[in-house]
Amino acid sequence: MRTRTASIRGRNLSTMRTCIACRTPAQKNSLIRIVRTVQGELDIDNNGKLPGRGAYLCENVSCWENGFIPVSLQESLHLVNPPSKTEFNLLTKKARDIILESLAKKKGQTK
Ligand SMILES: [Zn+2]
Repeated sequence: MRTRTASIRGRNLSTMRTCIACRTPAQKNSLIRIVRTVQGELDIDNNGKLPGRGAYLCENVSCWENGFIPVSLQESLHLVNPPSKTEFNLLTKKARDIILESLAKKKGQTK
């Protein structure tokens, strides 16, 4: 059960971010934020509230499957090491759920 409200859909055109894979600029809330938490772990920031340095990836699954992403993440987030395959797979899995959910939502409100 997800209880995300519609409030995150506020449109603020000034918040453009760039996907670290395809370099396509998009609105912040249409990208998925990967955050380096204060504990130094990587996590997906589902509602844009987690503190820490963030990097953005679009909802394009092919961007997530881009083999350079762990290295791009390392650069963007100033990590000592790129995330391990296991770590990154976990992130990808989480992201995929979010992407699917977001797609389902879009389908439900075609305007
Ligand atoms: Zn992308």
